[in-house]
Amino acid sequence: KRTCMDYDLIVIGGGPGGYVCAFRAAQLGLKKIALIDKRPTLGGTCLNVGCIPSKALLASSEHVAFAQKHAAEHGLTFSGLTVDLPAMLKKKESIVAKMTGGLAALAKARKVEVVTGAAQFLDAHTLAVGERKLSARNIVIATGSAPVELPFLKFDGQAIISSTEALALTEVPKKLVVVGGGAIGLELGSVWARLGAEVTIVEFLPQIGGPAADADVVRGYTRSLQAQGLKIEVGAKVTGFKDGQLLAERDGKPLAFAADKVLVSVGRRPFTDGLALDKAGIALAANGRIGVDAQLRTSAPHIRAIGDVVDGPMLAHKAEEDGAAVAEWIAGKAGHINWDLMPAIIYTDPELATVGLGEDAAKKAGRKVKVGKFNFAANARAHANDGAEGFVKIIADAETDTILGAQILGKNAGELISEVVTHMEYSGSAEDLARTIHAHPTMSEAVKEAAAAVSKTAIHAL
Ligand code: FAD
Repeated sequence: KRTCMDYDLIVIGGGPGGYVCAFRAAQLGLKKIALIDKRPTLGGTCLNVGCIPSKALLASSEHVAFAQKHAAEHGLTFSGLTVDLPAMLKKKESIVAKMTGGLAALAKARKVEVVTGAAQFLDAHTLAVGERKLSARNIVIATGSAPVELPFLKFDGQAIISSTEALALTEVPKKLVVVGGGAIGLELGSVWARLGAEVTIVEFLPQIGGPAADADVVRGYTRSLQAQGLKIEVGAKVTGFKDGQLLAERDGKPLAFAADKVLVSVGRRPFTDGLALDKAGIALAANGRIGVDAQLRTSAPHIRAIGDVVDGPMLAHKAEEDGAAVAEWIAGKAGHINWDLMPAIIYTDPELATVGLGEDAAKKAGRKVKVGKFNFAANARAHANDGAEGFVKIIADAETDTILGAQILGKNAGELISEVVTHMEYSGSAEDLARTIHAHPTMSEAVKEAAAAVSKTAIHAL
C-alpha cells in the first residue's frame, strides 16, 4: 500500500478534456495537480491543430468568398483582390498563440503544474516523464485522438495529407481531393475551395455530413456546397492513389480523380500509443478506446479516462464536459453530463448543426413526432446578413410537445442551436420556445418561428 503520493491529481493530455479537468479540480480545492502534455503548448488537438486553426482559416476564407461573391451586391467593388496566404496563416497562428498563452497563464494562476513531455505508466500510481517520476492518488487519461490512416493511402505529408498539414499548406493546391465527407473534410475542403482549389469530396456513405442529419437537410446542404463549386461524390469506395489520381469505385465501376493533394479525413482513432496502459492494468476495448464506467472510471478505479480516448462523439465540448464532471467526482461532488444532448456542428457556409433526435431517426424508431420548419428566406435579418439560405427544424414529441431535437442549416447555425439545447436541458416544449421573446431583427427569430411551426402557429410562414 502506498502512503506518499506527490500529487492529488495527474492529468495526462492538455487538450479540452485534460485542461478543463485540471482547472476544475483546482477550483474545487484539490491541492497538487499536474497537467502533462508532450506538446509544448496546452490546448491539445483542438486548439493547436483542430477546432481553432480550422475556424481561423474558415473565417479568413469566408472574407475572400464575401469579397468575390457578395460584396458587389452591397455596393462594394474591388479591383485586383489578392490573397496573401502567408499573412492568412500568420493570423491563424497568432490566434492559436494568444489562446495557448492564455491557457498557460490560467494554469499558472490556478497553481496547476504543467509538465512538458510524454507520460508513460510505470505502475498504476506512477508515471514517467523523461527522467522524472510522478505519482498520484488520482490519474486522468485525456490523451485524445489521432487521424485514421488508410493502409492504401498512407500519409506522406506531401501528396497524401492529414488535417494537420491541410491547416498549414503554403500554396493553394490546384486539385484537392478530400477523402471523407464529415466535418473536418468539408470544413477544410471549403477553405481551400474558397482560396481557389478545385475540390472534390469523395464519401463512402450515400450522404455527406454524417448520419445524424435528416434527408431534407442533407439535400439542401449538398446543393449549397455544390453551388460553391465543391464536387461531391458519394457512395464511392476509395482504393488507392497512383500517378496523381485518386482511385475509387462505385457499384464495381472504377473512378479516378486527378489530385495534387489528397486530404484523408475518414475519422480519428483514440490515441494511447506509448502510454504503457498494461503497466496500470488497463486493457483497451475492442474499438481501441479505453473502457470506462458511468463515472468514467477505468478498470483501475483511481484512473479515469475522458474525451476522444473514450466512447462518445469525438468533440471538444464533449471532452470538456467529461473533464469537468470527472474533477467533480474526484472531489466528491455530483458531476453531471448529459451525453444525449450533444450538439454537433459543421462550420461550413451554411453551417449544419444538429442536436438530439432527427425527424428521420424518430420515424425509423417508430416514435410519434411533430416537426416545425422555418426558412431563413422569411427572416429579414438573414437577408441583410447574406444568410437567407437554409432553415431551422424543431422536432417535438407528438403528445407532450417536449423538444426532442433540432437541425439547423444556415449561417451561424452553430450559435443558433445553443438556445434549443438549453430548452432541451430543461425539458422545454416547443410552445415554451415559441413563447420566449426573441429580439428583432435577429436570425434567432427563425428558431422561435420553427418552434411555433410545430403547432402551425408561425407568424411569417403558412
Ligand atoms: P486532444 O485535444 O486530442 O488532446 C490530447 C492531448 O494529449 C494532446 O495534446 C497530446 O499531445 C497529449 N498526449 C497524448 N498522449 C500523451 C502522452 N502519453 N503524454 C503526454 N501527452 C500526451 N471538435 C469540436 O467540438 N468542434 C470543432 O470545430 C472541431 N474541429 C476540429 C477540426 C480538426 C481539424 C480536428 C482534427 C478536430 C476537430 N475537433 C473539433 C475535434 C476536437 O479537436 C477533439 O474532439 C478534441 O480535441 C478532443 O479533446 P481531448 O482533450 O480528448 O484530446
